Amino acid sequence: MGKVTGFLEIDRYDRKYKPASDRVRNFKEFVIPLSEEKTKEQAARCMDCGIPFCHTGCPVNNQIPDWNDLVYNSNWQEASLNLHSTNNFPEFTGRICPAPCEASCTLNLTDDAVTIKTIECAIVDKAWKEGWIKPQISQIKTGKNIAIIGSGPAGLAAAQQLARQGHSIDLYEKNSTAGGLLRYGIPDFKMEKHLIDRRVAQMQEEGVTFHYNKNIGYDVDINDLFQEYDALILTGGSEKPRDLPIPGRDLEGVHYAMDFLPSQNRINSLEISEDERKISAKGKNVVVIGGGDTGSDCIGTSFRQGALSVTQLEIMPEPPESENKGLTWPHWPLKMRTSSSQAEGAKRDFSILTESFLGNDGKLTGLNCVEVDQSLKKIDNSNIQIKADLALLAMGFVHPIHEGLLSNLDIKLNQRGNVDANDVDYKTNKEKIFVAGDMRRGQSLVVWAIREGRQVAHSVDKYLMGKTKLPR
Ligand SMILES: Cc1cc2nc3c(=O)[nH]c(=O)nc-3n(C[C@H](O)[C@H](O)[C@H](O)COP(=O)(O)OP(=O)(O)OC[C@H]3O[C@@H](n4cnc5c(N)ncnc54)[C@H](O)[C@@H]3O)c2cc1C
Ligand code: SF4
Repeated sequence: MGKVTGFLEIDRYDRKYKPASDRVRNFKEFVIPLSEEKTKEQAARCMDCGIPFCHTGCPVNNQIPDWNDLVYNSNWQEASLNLHSTNNFPEFTGRICPAPCEASCTLNLTDDAVTIKTIECAIVDKAWKEGWIKPQISQIKTGKNIAIIGSGPAGLAAAQQLARQGHSIDLYEKNSTAGGLLRYGIPDFKMEKHLIDRRVAQMQEEGVTFHYNKNIGYDVDINDLFQEYDALILTGGSEKPRDLPIPGRDLEGVHYAMDFLPSQNRINSLEISEDERKISAKGKNVVVIGGGDTGSDCIGTSFRQGALSVTQLEIMPEPPESENKGLTWPHWPLKMRTSSSQAEGAKRDFSILTESFLGNDGKLTGLNCVEVDQSLKKIDNSNIQIKADLALLAMGFVHPIHEGLLSNLDIKLNQRGNVDANDVDYKTNKEKIFVAGDMRRGQSLVVWAIREGRQVAHSVDKYLMGKTKLPR
């Protein structure tokens, strides 16, 4: 514990954002890092409580009090080593993790949580800047070949862990660059993509071979890979979006969020040109259906493209302003949260059900909605019409895409349509085939994908070598 009385003397102070009027002019990150001194001061608030609930609140079990202490004592390099012992990519989570660790911080019970995510981000950003993060090239070669299918955070974490054990890793990706939803879903203003490129370069030096534009199940027969490799790991994500099959769904102007977001990311990285953009929010009244992360990303992207207005509809009732910590702590509480994108000027409506899309000449002109009560029953005479030229469906993802890869493998799925495997050995019903990330657990978070990538690596190493030193 760095400073015994830190939590008594110092108030929580977190990173601020650039003003909305400035940040919506471009797609760059807008979070302003704390100074080194301020970060140390915030680390001093950690009480190093006897049972650090933050360890279990964090899906990768980051050893938060340890690195808070190291930061307070200016031992940033050791803090980086400690952080990387549990998390392969803290610069991703330090930017886009919702930080369940902070909900479970003991200080959060009676005060405000330690700024854990901000400190995590400061450690890893400094480590990169100082050149402390180097490829960890294995001195031994096991002679085992592993194919990983899908280069999202789960596939990347698994690949890095296994390459460092001396296995030969081929990472197959259907897109033209690595990162999965980190690259094509999450907008640049939340996480710039050079951060992924830097990790890819590190992993290439560590011996991971990336194969892009290879849609396994279509471009490459999965059964050929099965013959060629000692183990296969499926990390293809959960890409089947939830639809809203109501009258007017086929009107021009009604799209899935993931038909809208990736093209902006591709334009930002010059992967495609502005002329190749298929959907734009410019000059339009936009309605986003769905209140989660994806919905927020649609809002921020629409504002940056020049939308006239953005309205977000949520079917669930408005959550309470703050939680009853005595009842919810150390768990993730349901409460009103306002994302940076929502704060850029979106109108938010709760308890709203969309009954039909309205159109003229085949084009969307509005939405026909009703209000619903707590049990989602329609309230009589509560019809509302909302003007819209673009409606984005951001209601989550139901399961992985079954056609192609999974159907060719004839692999066992669970009741939800995800690939069936437990979170101990991550084995599917097929010999030598493993699964991790959203493809196994369903739509989730980057930090959970990293956890599963690390744990599947542990299981695969043990399967191939009979034992493993990789952490779980
Ligand atoms: C718009 C959006 C915003 C989000 N924002 C956040 C956030 O702020 N914070 C957070 O923690 N989480 C967020 N999430 C969730 C998070 O991105 C995912 O939970 C996480 O990326 C899952 O990682 P994964 O590796 O399992 O799968 P993915 O990231 O989906 O990666 C799967 C990869 O597999 C590839 N693939 C699939 N099938 C094949 C095949 N047959 N052959 C070759 N390649 C294949 C895909 O192209 C993709 O690259 C967001 C999700 C979305 C959609
Ligand atoms: S990865 Fe997420 S939950 Fe874990 S310490 Fe970082 S912000 Fe907290």
